[in-house]
Amino acid sequence: MRGGEPLRVAIAGSGPAAMFAADELLTVPGARVDVFERLTVPYGLARTGVAPDHPNTRRVADLFDRISAQDGFRLFHGVEVGRDVTHEELLEHHHAVIYAVGASSDRRLDVPGADLAGTATEFVAWYNGHPDHAHRTFDLSHRRAVIVGNGNVALDVARILASDPARLAGTDIAPAALDALRGSRIEEIVVAGRRGPAQSAFTVAELRGLLDTPGIDVAVEGADPAAEPDDASPPHSTVHKLRMLRELDGRAPSGNGNRRIVLRYLASPERITDEGVEFARTELVDGRAVPTGESEVVAAGLVLSSIGYRGRPVPGLPFDAATGTVPNLAGRVGTGEPVAGAYVAGWIKRGPTGFIGTNKSCARETVRTLVDDFNEHRLPAPPASPEALDRLLRSRREVPQPA
Ligand code: NAP
Repeated sequence: MRGGEPLRVAIAGSGPAAMFAADELLTVPGARVDVFERLTVPYGLARTGVAPDHPNTRRVADLFDRISAQDGFRLFHGVEVGRDVTHEELLEHHHAVIYAVGASSDRRLDVPGADLAGTATEFVAWYNGHPDHAHRTFDLSHRRAVIVGNGNVALDVARILASDPARLAGTDIAPAALDALRGSRIEEIVVAGRRGPAQSAFTVAELRGLLDTPGIDVAVEGADPAAEPDDASPPHSTVHKLRMLRELDGRAPSGNGNRRIVLRYLASPERITDEGVEFARTELVDGRAVPTGESEVVAAGLVLSSIGYRGRPVPGLPFDAATGTVPNLAGRVGTGEPVAGAYVAGWIKRGPTGFIGTNKSCARETVRTLVDDFNEHRLPAPPASPEALDRLLRSRREVPQPA
């Protein structure tokens, strides 16, 4: 409240950063928050990115439901900021707009034949029933699949591909994906990292989750996890990861018909063909993967690149193409002259790293900046009423639905 004037904020996106920002804003007495989601379902990657067999993580949606139920909160489905309503129009009705639009694209491999590969993010969206990807098909007819990149997304996808469909049947997996996985002939999933075991991008928790999944054998190939890491005092998490990988190294198949995940190291994709992936063998030089001159073809049907997400430019805002983020200072858009009333939170602010919870501190920083600007009278009062916003949206979209 500023001299009796309640703070009004629009948020573009309804994923974790948006919901944590809304929660923080609603601690300001009298604040009103309008959240705009382009899809018909809210909560972004908390709903369409978390693996269906991770029910505890998916339960964050219950927290977001409680945030949505607070006084002053409205959610508009099927409204895309920049397409259905502009930044300037939102500022007619709000003091500020927070863009929490995530990193809605994925990084693409730059090798010949890259178009023959799908992406892990599309595959995740498919098994989670994302409306934009629900009708995709993937080749599950070959005995081997290859995933390029070894972050947590790669492990999620490998685990789903290797899981007994009967185990997945009790989860939130999209029915069409479950049907397709029931007919899968995949027996082995190669998860390829271009660097060594110490540089594995997956976390200890995700590796442990994989090892605890019944009916899956996990093996390490291509590098010796017992070799000393080149970093003299590696972080505790790396030491822990290497210890776990050492236990897997050379482990014989269980022989009881389990599907197998191979964590393959020092293999950088050079070319993708209809037959599979040609990998350059690499060695680590100053932390970088450098080709040794040797190469190897790994035959596969399904090939997915899993090399990270990437932010897209937001209409009207500056964009750093190298990082795929909107330049900002503690959440306020712009590094010189700020863009009037524009703020960012989440992956579009800091890049596609971290867990759902990382967005809480990220959103809190943005909201603190915004509330300071409001209290210091740097955000002009919006001339139009909240009701006028309803009328505007109704004129743009057939049926906007405030919840
Ligand atoms: P990521 O963690 O950034 O991993 C990207 C992987 O791609 C790395 O192995 C990287 O290797 C590799 N890579 C990048 N460019 C490459 C290239 N040109 N050729 C070959 N390999 C390449 O990405 P992510 O798995 O998409 O995860 C994104 C974020 O979401 C992470 O913070 C992750 O922890 C989080 N997430 C968390 C969970 C969970 O907590 N359960 C689940 C899913 C996602 P280099 O290291 O050599 O670059």
